[in-house]
Amino acid sequence: MSATVSSNSALTPPPSPRSPTLPTLPLPAAHASPPAPLLPGSAMLGVLGGGQLGRMFVHAAQAHGYRVAVLDPDAASPAGAAADLHLRAAYTDAAALAQLQQVCAAVTTEFENVPAAVLRQLAAALPVAPPAAAVEVCQHRALEKRWFVQAGVPCAPHAVIESAADATAAAAAALLPGILKTSRLGYDGKGQVTVTRADDLPAAWAALGSVPCVLEQRLPLHREISVIVARGRDGAVVHLPVQQNLHRDGILALTQVPAPDVEDGTARQAVALATRLAEALDYLGVLCVEFFVLQDGSLVANEMAPRPHNSGHYSIDACDLSQFDLQLRTLAGLPLVAPRLHSAAVMLNLLGDLWFAAGSAPRTPDWAAVLALPGVHLHLYGKAEARRGRKMGHLTVTAGDAASARATATQAAALLGLPAF
Ligand code: ADP
Ligand code: MG
Repeated sequence: MSATVSSNSALTPPPSPRSPTLPTLPLPAAHASPPAPLLPGSAMLGVLGGGQLGRMFVHAAQAHGYRVAVLDPDAASPAGAAADLHLRAAYTDAAALAQLQQVCAAVTTEFENVPAAVLRQLAAALPVAPPAAAVEVCQHRALEKRWFVQAGVPCAPHAVIESAADATAAAAAALLPGILKTSRLGYDGKGQVTVTRADDLPAAWAALGSVPCVLEQRLPLHREISVIVARGRDGAVVHLPVQQNLHRDGILALTQVPAPDVEDGTARQAVALATRLAEALDYLGVLCVEFFVLQDGSLVANEMAPRPHNSGHYSIDACDLSQFDLQLRTLAGLPLVAPRLHSAAVMLNLLGDLWFAAGSAPRTPDWAAVLALPGVHLHLYGKAEARRGRKMGHLTVTAGDAASARATATQAAALLGLPAF
């Protein structure tokens, strides 16, 4: 067996008889000598995807003197508006990719559903983080679950459903009540249906388009937490503090750090599991792992995001290195230093619903009132049109202690018409 094959064998998940159509992972390129660091101010960096995550990466990179090119088809893209160069084209557009390759010294992604083939193609020419193979795992729930199992990371009891026969078998597998989730392209609770009775499963699968799905047992969640790790070219891993998250209607509503209701041992274990996953994937870049904490304190991995994550936005204002700084450092090959939480923080997501809180006529939330509170950091993503469920911005409250951050965030939520927490 050649060195290339053996060094990458860890990226080949075990065969699964229940999911014959899962993609196999092509072997990534063997690690040649690492590229030289791209020093601050010296280069243009590329981002695939133009949403708010890309926009905050652009801000971090520009603060370090880099120029940034964003590839996103949307003329009104939040990251494109902040970038030095906005390539308005599809992610697979050959001419745009050629231009990106020509003007950039390295490329990252802010969008986990960018075709892995595009990352692979770019990686043949210049440094790309995260690696295509890892992104491919995160893009596919069934494959992701197999990774959890292979890495020894607990996940929810589940069954892969890719045919009517699979649906029948899963219905009998004591997974109900459960949540049927599409294997690809789900986000913010979209592409999910709750299934209570076995008889309902075929119709639920049909309602999701009869596409490959995963049926997960609905677990009694005590808390939801997430861990953001960053892994560098030399394999060094650093992490942000464990985040405690509250979701409403499947969308993140609020993040608290330090996590108020999570035992130290549980937090340490979550960091260890996230680190193990990053290492198993031979990851390069920022990886977020979402976990459920069950009543008995045990951890269950939910899903991974191969990029900065909504639950890490507080790090811009509450840490000495943000998740976007970490993304930049891993991409450019700069030193990775452990981030330090210097303030307690509560992050409130600002969804488009806020613009409609007073009735049907849109109104601008009373920013002046919330900005009059101490320690409030407002981030708006520059999206022209508010729509219900659309992430328009976030607000981080920092304070010297968790109780003060929570008290101010409670006031801010009340002023904005957000539910109490
Ligand atoms: P998305 O990709 O939309 O974030 P998730 O799989 O993270 O999808 O599900 C969204 C939310 O739904 C989770 O944060 C959690 O609140 C709830 N949820 C998902 N799976 C389960 C489960 N197996 N048991 C209980 N709640 C779940
Ligand atoms: Mg999620």
